[in-house]
Amino acid sequence: MAKEIKKPSFDLKGKVAIVTGATKGIGYAIAATFAMYGCNIVITSRTPADCERVEKDIKNLYNVQCLGISADSSVKENIDEVVAKTVEAFGKIDILVNNAGISGKTTDLLNQTEDNFMKVVSTNLKGCFLFAQAVAEQMKKQGTGGKIVNIASVGGLIGGKGVAPYGASKAGVLSLTRTMANEWARYGITVNAVCPGYVITELNQDIFADPEIKSKMEKRTAVRRLGSVEEVAGPVLAMVSDCFSYMTGTYILLDGGQTIGG
Ligand code: NAP
Repeated sequence: MAKEIKKPSFDLKGKVAIVTGATKGIGYAIAATFAMYGCNIVITSRTPADCERVEKDIKNLYNVQCLGISADSSVKENIDEVVAKTVEAFGKIDILVNNAGISGKTTDLLNQTEDNFMKVVSTNLKGCFLFAQAVAEQMKKQGTGGKIVNIASVGGLIGGKGVAPYGASKAGVLSLTRTMANEWARYGITVNAVCPGYVITELNQDIFADPEIKSKMEKRTAVRRLGSVEEVAGPVLAMVSDCFSYMTGTYILLDGGQTIGG
């Protein structure tokens, strides 16, 4: 008799996801993509008006429940409030995407300031730790397991010039991802990361507005173009689906071949 193989499913109907920093760029694309597959969504950012707008957009476009909560990912009280409000509204959390991130000021190490370093690390690394910790506690309580995806970066793998705080924060996110996966596997929680290469968003649009810089970056990439937000959101959808149930503690590189030498 032919062996039957289970059909992979990306369905997220009835699931509840928090996507941080989801009013723009990669985070918005991830939240919208989850919603397309039936997921109820909580989105955050520091700007209340953006949260309200995106909450309405996602509800109208995808016919799912959506809650926009203004919260700073570097502030523990804000994070605890997001988790409490999510549980109050939906009764559970199935998925967390730690996406909120900033690049900080670009300057060589000798001119880096403590203030810039701490700002970047507080949002990108401390925020990832505190959000995952609060959500994992809730998932453990639920006894349902869950999926956590941390948005790291190629910057966390290579030593790019001028972006030390960003690179260090993203390398830290990759390290946290491994420890979280190790410690929380016993609760049925998988934790993975993605490392995108260059994707034009508000984070870097000023840099890529210079055609010379854009062309230089494209030449450094094997596929000779920058990535799109959809090219990050699609893989993240797969990672929180049942297809990736055996993957934890690692990352997917989404860089168009940047790190293989371009
Ligand atoms: P983006 O377009 O600048 O969007 C960042 C989002 O995060 C916005 O919604 C922003 O809203 C929010 N945010 C920033 N700081 C926050 C904080 N402290 N608390 C809560 N929300 C905050 O950036 P993006 O390019 O989509 O980047 C998203 C993630 O992908 C980041 O972690 C970034 O490091 C990573 N990444 C990006 C690229 C790229 O080429 N774009 C490459 C690799 C990795 P408010 O400002 O209103 O709070």
